[in-house]
Amino acid sequence: MRLVLVGPPGAGKGTQAQFVAAHLAVPNISTGEIFRANVTRRTDLGLQAKQYMDAGRLVPDEVTINMVRDRLAEPDAGDGFLLDGFPRTVPQAVALDKTLADLGTALDVVLELVVDEDEVIRRLSGRRNCRGCGKVWHLEFDAPTRDGICDRCSGELFLRDDDKPEVIAERLRVYTRDTAPLVDYYGPQNKLVGIDATGPVEDVTLRAIDTLRSYEKS
Ligand SMILES: [Zn+2]
Repeated sequence: MRLVLVGPPGAGKGTQAQFVAAHLAVPNISTGEIFRANVTRRTDLGLQAKQYMDAGRLVPDEVTINMVRDRLAEPDAGDGFLLDGFPRTVPQAVALDKTLADLGTALDVVLELVVDEDEVIRRLSGRRNCRGCGKVWHLEFDAPTRDGICDRCSGELFLRDDDKPEVIAERLRVYTRDTAPLVDYYGPQNKLVGIDATGPVEDVTLRAIDTLRSYEKS
């Protein structure tokens, strides 16, 4: 199965990508992983991407798309894949469709993890990271025994800039602006399906697998 996973920050996309890809026995491909692999192997694209990243700038679409194309052409992606973090915008979605057409194939389904904004804010703003061991606690779902102190290493807990309410609001705004139009792009192709991504992680995975069953080729 050729699958794209989309969803707002805080929807648990990375976790679900891992479980769903394992269930489908397809490689779980994230743009982060592709970037790191290209930079480590010092490919031309990796070196280009690194120049932008080192300068604190966004890697241009063209570079990202070419990296995705190279990755999808690798043998392990021949029978299917799960893409996480790409496409993020409609122009990237158009480029992905073209790339797959060049490879003689097409996407089967785009699975959207649906979580409402209040829930996203609740999930992200409750996170506390440990300065000592890096463990991520959650004031509501996985609270440390002592306020502001890590149970594991007694390190100090802090709120990442990314998880501050005003930054979360901005991340959601960017998501809505850039990624939500994907719904309009994939909807008419009958490839988009949304699932409720609230509740326990295992329940969401089961919902995803159940929903994808109808897209599996017989
Ligand atoms: Zn710790």
